Amino acid sequence: MTDGIVRVPGERAEEYRRRGWWQPRLVTDVALGSAPEYPDRCAVVDAGHRLTYGELAATVEAAASRLRRLGIGRGDPVLVQLPNGLEYVITTLALIRLGAPPVVALPALREHELDHVLSVTRPVAMAVPLRSSRFDHLAMAERLRERHPGIRMLLVTRADGAAAGEGVPVRADLADLTSLTLGGVVPGVDAPGGPLHAADEAPEPPGPRDNALFLLSSGTTGPPKAIPRPHEAFGHVIRSAAEVSGLSDSSVYLAVMPASHSFVLGHPGILGTLSRGGRIVLDSPDDPRRTLALVEREGVTHCALAPAVLLQWLAAAETGEFDLSSLRVLQVGGARLDPTTARRVREQLGCRVQQVYGMSEGLLNFTRLDDPDAVVDETQGRPSAAGDELLVVDESGREVGPGETGELLTRGPSVLAGYYGEDETNARSFTADGHYRTGDLVRLHPSGNLVVAGRVKDVVNRGGEKIPADELEAVVLTHPGVRAAAAVAMPHPLYGEAVCLFVVAAGPPPAPAAPTLRELRRHLEDKGLARYKLPERLVPVESLPLAGVGKVNKVALRAEAARLVAAERAARR
Ligand code: AMP
Repeated sequence: MTDGIVRVPGERAEEYRRRGWWQPRLVTDVALGSAPEYPDRCAVVDAGHRLTYGELAATVEAAASRLRRLGIGRGDPVLVQLPNGLEYVITTLALIRLGAPPVVALPALREHELDHVLSVTRPVAMAVPLRSSRFDHLAMAERLRERHPGIRMLLVTRADGAAAGEGVPVRADLADLTSLTLGGVVPGVDAPGGPLHAADEAPEPPGPRDNALFLLSSGTTGPPKAIPRPHEAFGHVIRSAAEVSGLSDSSVYLAVMPASHSFVLGHPGILGTLSRGGRIVLDSPDDPRRTLALVEREGVTHCALAPAVLLQWLAAAETGEFDLSSLRVLQVGGARLDPTTARRVREQLGCRVQQVYGMSEGLLNFTRLDDPDAVVDETQGRPSAAGDELLVVDESGREVGPGETGELLTRGPSVLAGYYGEDETNARSFTADGHYRTGDLVRLHPSGNLVVAGRVKDVVNRGGEKIPADELEAVVLTHPGVRAAAAVAMPHPLYGEAVCLFVVAAGPPPAPAAPTLRELRRHLEDKGLARYKLPERLVPVESLPLAGVGKVNKVALRAEAARLVAAERAARR
């Protein structure tokens, strides 16, 4: 293949097809397969707007035609950085349908991360919100476009009542893509690409072996890497995750974490729920009380949450003012859930917890809905998809004994065969026989489920959002007052972990002064680093402790960070 995508070797790929794990179906057919059968059933709810399956399927088709008229063709990647909403769902599905793989990016990513993603995936367009209360995405997109001239077009959502802005050479208004069904009419839209007609010729669909979309890795080192997801592989992931989550046509799935994360998009998330004929409700995580009111109003049965958001839910639910009796399954993953919180969910919310240990790279583990409570509380599940192989190895790569802790390696029909355009990283991240090195330390529980015991990768997991230490440290070193820096995790009451940064000053005057935490945070933001990666504590030190071969001793620094946090807590008591 010449599309730059690292493929699963032929023999294994053929086996996956022979065994029916990889089926010749497009992701859009998996997701919208029930549309012809149940055209009038509600598929998506967003802030009062409701689309039936029939309307959603028609809108996706029309939007795909429209995107093609705008000059986006098969094989043209498009970066999609949209908040949870109908426009995100429609745009993503339409691009997949068109064969123009969306590169789905968290709205929290900034220029530092996106510069890398754009250099590698080379999209022809970016879809961004025109206005967001928190951040000017459009201004950022315009700056990025200057550095990445391959971006021919910005697809912009329309702010309420605003005219399409000026100053961007080529732009299309995404609201025009969705207004087709939102208004219940087929408008003649006066916009680039010409009017949208239901009768637009349907674009030729891509093939099942083509790449459906790019997910972004949360990274073990450096900025996010692009993970290609061919239709046949992603379909397997979606179908099996939907199955073990107990999703059905009576399920109501709330997408409240960022829908551009794989957990919410297709693990099983939005696409998995649609594949079973269920209903999606879209919201954002900034107001847990509003979300719980939405759970009550819409009769939400399923939701995926990171542990930090779950804690906010539990606090907001304590007042007892919301009727949450519709909830059946709370899927919790992205970071380790402690057993006490898992028990609290059962007692306080009266629903099942389903622990999910998954990764955008494709492997998904779920506790099962009929696992005993003790297993659900203590373990992070087992693979949902048939064919996915697990191998737990020691530092020398040898398989450990049953129940012993080691690094998890994996390969199989769900698992990526290589990051896109990252030869060097791929050489490090995969074994010679094609296993992906997860960087996670796990052990096998007697139940057959996995327990995540830690990680070998140098990453801080802040409530499910990952911060590769080397990436942060490299940007910290651009501050003239810093000679050396090391980022480690420190305990955090809500996020589980947050970044503690140890900093060695550039030197005595006349060297520039070492920054305060505030100054450094400002500097990092100015450098285009996503906000969630900013350190929450800065510890000035004379030098960084070294271990063995001259590597920074992060074990010692982690212990020191934990000691500082504990001492501060004790002083406050
Ligand atoms: P992402 O690709 O953003 O989904 O991140 C995947 C990584 O998140 C995994 O490799 C783990 O390090 C971590 N992770 C995901 N789920 C869990 C979990 N349930 N418990 C502990 N760590 C988790």
